[in-house]
Amino acid sequence: MSVPGNRLDPWINAYAQRARGMTASEIRALFAVASRPEVVSLAGGMPYVSALNLDALADTVADLLRTEGAQALQYGSGQGDVTLRDQIGQVMAPVGIQAHPDDIVVTTGSQMALDLVTRVFCDPGDVVFVEAPSYVGALGVFRSYECTVIHVPMDEQGLNPVALAEAISSARALGLQPKMIYTIPSFHNPAGITQGPDRRHEILEVAQRNNLLLLEDDPYGLLGFDDVGFGDAPPRAIRADDADGVVYLGSFSKTIASGLRVGWAVAPHGVREKLVLAAEAAVLCPSNYAQMTISSYLATQPWREQIKVFTETYRQRRDALLGALQQHMPTGTTWTAPAGGFYSWLTLPAGLDATAMLPRAITALVAYVPGTGFFVDGQGRQYMRLSYCYPEPDRIIEGVRRLAGVIDEELQLTRTFGTSHTLHQANGPSTPTPDLQ
Ligand code: PMP
Repeated sequence: MSVPGNRLDPWINAYAQRARGMTASEIRALFAVASRPEVVSLAGGMPYVSALNLDALADTVADLLRTEGAQALQYGSGQGDVTLRDQIGQVMAPVGIQAHPDDIVVTTGSQMALDLVTRVFCDPGDVVFVEAPSYVGALGVFRSYECTVIHVPMDEQGLNPVALAEAISSARALGLQPKMIYTIPSFHNPAGITQGPDRRHEILEVAQRNNLLLLEDDPYGLLGFDDVGFGDAPPRAIRADDADGVVYLGSFSKTIASGLRVGWAVAPHGVREKLVLAAEAAVLCPSNYAQMTISSYLATQPWREQIKVFTETYRQRRDALLGALQQHMPTGTTWTAPAGGFYSWLTLPAGLDATAMLPRAITALVAYVPGTGFFVDGQGRQYMRLSYCYPEPDRIIEGVRRLAGVIDEELQLTRTFGTSHTLHQANGPSTPTPDLQ
C-alpha cells in the first residue's frame, strides 16, 4: 500500500481535502438504538407515508409500467421529464411562482439540488450564510465543498435581516468571499419558524443589495396549519418576487413520498443550464421511473386532497406535542410553536446540555436530535429538535412525558453535582442519517 494510513482505515491519508470534513457524529450510534420500537423517536424527520392511499398508488405504478414501461425504465433527459416539469409549475402556483418548464431542473430529491447549486457556485472557502440553526443536510453539503459557513441569528420571524447584513459586511471586511444566502423561509427545519411577508422582502433586499444568490429551500411550504401572514394561502415564495436572484428548491418528499426521491430546482436561465450540466455529470439523469410515477400520480390522484390529509395529520401531532410540552416541561424550558411542517425547537433550562443528556433520554426510551447537529461549529448544546411528523399523537405525548422526566432529573443532578457527564459530538454536523433529516 503506497499511502500509510491506520488499521481502521488504511486510506485515511489518501482522501481529498473535501472528504476530511465528512465525519460521522457519535450520536449516530445512539440512533441505532433509538430505532427500537419501544423508544419513542422524536428524532427522525420521516414523513408519515402510511397516510397515502397505497392501493391507488400501486394501481398507478402497475398502469404506468404496463402502458409506458419501456419509457419509464429507460434513461431520460438530464433536465428531467418535460410533462413532470410542466406539472411542477402547477404545484408551485400556490406559493406564487410562475415558472416555465424550461426554468425547472428535476433532481433526486431537493438534497441533490442543494449539492448541484453548491457545486456550481462555491469554491473552497466561499462563504454561505445560513440560519442559526440550519438544516443538517445542507450543512453537510456546504462542508463537503469546503465552504465557510456563517450562522446568522434568527428571531421569532426567522432569519434576522439586520444581522444578515452585518454578517455579510464583516465577512467582506475579513477578506472572505460571500457567495450565497441559504434560507428555509417556511416551517423551518429545525427551528419550526416561518418568515412573514415583510421579513421575506427584507431578506431579499439584503441579498439584492449585496449581489448574493438567495437559495430558498421550501420542502414544507404546502404543509401549513396556521395563518402566518398570508391568509388562507401557503406562504408566498421569495422567488415569486425575484426570478433572477433566487434559486428555489422544491420537493415531493413531504407532499407525496420521500422514497421516490423526486425534487426540483427553479433557477434563472444561465444557472439552470449549469445545473443541468452538473446533474448530467453526477447522475446522467434523474430516475424516469420515479418521475413518471409522480407524474401519473399528479395526473390521476387527488393530490391536493392528499396534502390536506397530510396537513391535518401533522396538525393533530403538532397539537399533541405542544399540549404535552405545556403540561409536562419544567420551568425554564421553552420551545417554538410551528405553524406547519414537522419540527419544534426546544431550549433547555440554563446549564443543561442536550448532547450530554441523550444517552439518559434513550435509556428512558425517548429520542431527539441534539442542537449541535444543526450548527457547523459545535454550538447548540442547549437546544434540541423535536419532530412530531411520525409517531401517533399518544406516543408523542408519552415521549414528551418521558423527556420531561429526564430533564427534571438532569436539573436535579446539575443542582447537586454541576454538569457531570458529557458526550462529545464530532465537531459539526455529520452527513445526514435518516434520523437527522
Ligand atoms: N431541505 C430541507 C429543509 C429538508 O428538511 C430536507 C429533508 N428533510 C431536504 C431539504 C431534503 O429533502 P429531499 O431530498 O427528500 O427532497
